[in-house]
Amino acid sequence: PIVMGIESSCDETGVGIVRWTGDGTLELLADEVASSVDEHARFGGVVPEIASRAHLEAMVPTMRRALAAAGIDKPDAVCVTIGPGLAGALLVGVAAAKAYAAAWDVPFYAINHLGGHVAVDTLEHGPMPPCVALLVSGGHTHLLHVEDIGKPIVELGTTVDDAAGEAFDKVARLLGLGYPGGPEVDRLAREGDRTAVVFPRGMTGSRDARHDFSFSGLKTAVARFVEAKQRAGEPVPVADVAAGFQEAVADVLTMKAVRAAKDLGVDTLVLGGGATANSRLRELAEERCAAAGMTLRVPRPKLCTDNGVMIAALGAHLIAGGAAPSELGAATDPGLPVSVSQVSV
Ligand code: ATP
Ligand code: MG
Ligand code: FE
Repeated sequence: PIVMGIESSCDETGVGIVRWTGDGTLELLADEVASSVDEHARFGGVVPEIASRAHLEAMVPTMRRALAAAGIDKPDAVCVTIGPGLAGALLVGVAAAKAYAAAWDVPFYAINHLGGHVAVDTLEHGPMPPCVALLVSGGHTHLLHVEDIGKPIVELGTTVDDAAGEAFDKVARLLGLGYPGGPEVDRLAREGDRTAVVFPRGMTGSRDARHDFSFSGLKTAVARFVEAKQRAGEPVPVADVAAGFQEAVADVLTMKAVRAAKDLGVDTLVLGGGATANSRLRELAEERCAAAGMTLRVPRPKLCTDNGVMIAALGAHLIAGGAAPSELGAATDPGLPVSVSQVSV
């Protein structure tokens, strides 16, 4: 079957189309994304009202482009992100998905955004073995245990304060860099010495059952360091600060991900989310997975940021596993837990 995915949980309007080939692999037919990221730049973060309005304007044109790219009039199923995400933004995609599914008379599936970030990897690397997945983006930081992508996903840990990408955005602002901050910090860090300024690694001592993260203390440590330099009338070594901050984030994320995998006896790590673009995170993940004898799977960057294909991918796996369609009355859930891959009613 040909499965469509619609995404509107944050600042990307996405419509993706995949074909389930029967032997468990997915073929990409269309991946259309419109982003409102530039409209949020001067506010230093995603403004929900602006995102919702941008989704309204982009939804139908993005849908038309996706259908044209795939060369189809309609798919065999419509999947949509039902949560988690921004309430108003989610509503736009969900309303559109219900309308298209009803008009085309095809089944409707209300899908979890976070599971989509994991499932999209199967498009690139084929069937997924039991794995630990690390999702890092502007809104999310989750460590997950995925036994089978068609079954409920178990959350091992999440951030107790800021998301990893959000910490990059905040530190970039502190250093006078632009938004989104991740790419700017990454670029500047290349010119710095990552051992020159050592910042704290939050929540790395605890050996509790969960694998949670904290990044707000790190952000405060960076702010204190910058303030102290300024008070002393000394220049701020911005490249070293960027490199030291990035090192702290990448160190904690990869250390905890590999530790969780070892604890569970799992030998595959999957990365997802827009902050996986970070060069040091990728480098450390590769090093540490290799050292632990683990396989690292990272989808190409365009599939790591929010898109419709990831929703189609998770939907296709659930459909293949025999999932019944969701009811058209299914309600958006901004706080949907990762364990619920599909909302039925
Ligand atoms: P969601 O949280 O719902 O997935 P989002 O729009 O916040 O949505 P993405 O679009 O997936 O997240 O990713 C954007 C985030 O990734 C921003 O916080 C940005 O700073 C961060 N990011 C992008 N490139 C890099 C990089 N090279 N290094 C670190 N962070 C990065
Ligand atoms: Mg985004
Ligand atoms: Fe996302």
